[in-house]
Amino acid sequence: MKCLVTGGAGYVGSHVVISLLDAGHDVVVLDDLSTGHRAAIPDGVRFWHVDLGNAQATHDAVTQDNWDVVFHFAALSSVGHSITEPFHYLRHNIMNSLNLIEACTSHQVKRFVFSSTAALFSDERDLSRITDDALVNPASPYGDSKFFIERALLWADRIYGMRTACLRYFNAAGADPQGRLGEDHRPETHLIPLAIDTALGLQPALKIFGNSYDTRDGTCIRDYIHVTDLADAHIHVIDQLDTRSVAYNLGNGRGVTNLEVIESVERVSGRRIPWEWAPPRPGDTAILVADSSRIRMETGWQAKHQHIDSIVATALNWRKRHPHGYDGHKNRPVVADATS
Ligand code: UDP
Repeated sequence: MKCLVTGGAGYVGSHVVISLLDAGHDVVVLDDLSTGHRAAIPDGVRFWHVDLGNAQATHDAVTQDNWDVVFHFAALSSVGHSITEPFHYLRHNIMNSLNLIEACTSHQVKRFVFSSTAALFSDERDLSRITDDALVNPASPYGDSKFFIERALLWADRIYGMRTACLRYFNAAGADPQGRLGEDHRPETHLIPLAIDTALGLQPALKIFGNSYDTRDGTCIRDYIHVTDLADAHIHVIDQLDTRSVAYNLGNGRGVTNLEVIESVERVSGRRIPWEWAPPRPGDTAILVADSSRIRMETGWQAKHQHIDSIVATALNWRKRHPHGYDGHKNRPVVADATS
């Protein structure tokens, strides 16, 4: 299939690009490189440097070819930053996505896969088993920006017949098991890469935000899903889009506390992690764990990396080889069937 991937130089996007290439698809990456890395795009893959905030440039890019499916990852993605810069987050994510969606509908794109988020949810009575039809009530501007885009995609389906898959990721973590790609956010705000950097001595003591949540050890519980499993789910949903639009929650279904993440990184790395308590981070929800039974039943998708240690091991492996992230990457990832 001919695939356009926005945000294909970013963390999740680049792992999806590699999975698509490994599965024999033809990929073009569109990215403004504001947070993504040129070095994350495999050699030989076409790359278009486009700002989705520019409606004309977005339209011109989308109309260059007839895509079987468009994948949309490009977005600002930190819950914490969205609380300090709410309007910047809302404007950027919503306007850029509308430019892309409008270009896709006017060019009769038939399949669209959207990178959505568990940050849509905060209100379920049982946050340890969030189903696909749980009540949406974002606790942050970031979550709300994604919700707005999901709504826009509903209208793209109803009015233009563009079938859409909204994949609500829980906590993406880990790195390509073959070591071709990893996680490199600047600044890094996510728990697992920060814990790994602390273990490796690349950053000072880790701060753990909040110790009096209503959980088994007082720290937040998250559902970590390996980024390659997440990428695999994107390929599994494509067939669904022949007939209808779908929205799926994507996680492992296992809750891990922040302190258990520290224990896992210590176990896997064999090093102690210096850490200290810090106040709760605004916008954080105590528990977010997915019930992903629907995507499993309807598409046959299955997470391969079920244990937190196996997720941490792949992230640690990449970081050890790339302590400066993509700055240290001399060579781009090599993929057997990369098209040019
Ligand atoms: N967290 C933390 N210290 C950090 C970064 C994150 O205690 O330096 C906590 C955060 O408050 C949340 C959990 O780790 O409870 C996961 O946060 P992350 O930013 O990794 O992902 P999110 O769930 O916000 O998407």
